[in-house]
Amino acid sequence: MIESDKILMSVRNLKKYYPIGSNFFKSSDEYVKAVDGIDIDLYAGKTLGLVGESGCGKSTFGKCIIRAIEPSAGDIKVYLDREYSIREMRKSEFRTFRRNLQMIFQDPNSSLDPRMTIRDIISEPIKANSSLSKNQTEEKVKYLMDIVGLNPNQLYRYPHAFSGGQRQRIGIARAIALRPKLIICDEPVSALDVSIQSQILNLLLDLQSEFGLAYLFIAHDLAVVKHISDRIAIMYLGQIVETASAGTVYQDPRHPYTQSLISAIPVPDPTIKNERIILSGDVPSPIAPPSGCHFHPRCPACFEPCAETAPELKETDAEHSVRCHL
Ligand code: SF4
Repeated sequence: MIESDKILMSVRNLKKYYPIGSNFFKSSDEYVKAVDGIDIDLYAGKTLGLVGESGCGKSTFGKCIIRAIEPSAGDIKVYLDREYSIREMRKSEFRTFRRNLQMIFQDPNSSLDPRMTIRDIISEPIKANSSLSKNQTEEKVKYLMDIVGLNPNQLYRYPHAFSGGQRQRIGIARAIALRPKLIICDEPVSALDVSIQSQILNLLLDLQSEFGLAYLFIAHDLAVVKHISDRIAIMYLGQIVETASAGTVYQDPRHPYTQSLISAIPVPDPTIKNERIILSGDVPSPIAPPSGCHFHPRCPACFEPCAETAPELKETDAEHSVRCHL
């Protein structure tokens, strides 16, 4: 059981709605409900894996909680030297908030400025947030390059001189430069070769144990988050449909959507027969989500109340919550 006094971030009823077709003269009454009322806690030094299909709102959620985009509603509390709430945060407090929350992006090719040297890329947040001298900053950049597995002598090279995996290491060095408490990892390995993915995952685990980092690890593939997550949340059409410890999600998935994701993970042992659950249809539009349970048009277990009544996310066991009538 995770101790409640280790909560680092508490997210309540977070929503991000994008109006459609609004302009200066008319406001819209139609919205894309990218994030639709998420309640979740993140714990210090732990990893929450957030998994769902493309377009389910997981990256929007990640950007909302570091306020890279402004949520439409809800509250986020962060427990640092004291409690910070995005509802009441002053401009001066936002600096402390943002220093402690960093992001690693999916595509290391487009997230690094090709005109900047590695020294400039990694030192940018250090210069903006400290009064270190030029030499001290350079020493710190070399130290960061070393701990993420890059050669510090390559300080003055440009991103194009590095491989995809090395570029992701540069992004990680930049993200940890200010010693944040939480890093949002937005599909950080999905653009990399399989052989490189495990190296980056191991690096993230090493950095977590060295610096006590918490991660929100966003992925569309349950197999990727298996080894890095302490807890896993499954997201569908802007809502969390199941949360539990990583072990429980794999051994005892309760929501039919989670069960279908688990069934899609390849089993390396050819003697074990894995029955794949194939979902029918595409993910519905978040502009007009299905009535009742948003998953009901695709759910193999759909029964009478599902199309009428929306299920709540309810705790079924300790630390295991499911949004389903079953
Ligand atoms: Fe399926 Fe009904 Fe559960 Fe939704 S509430 S997941 S439709 S069984």
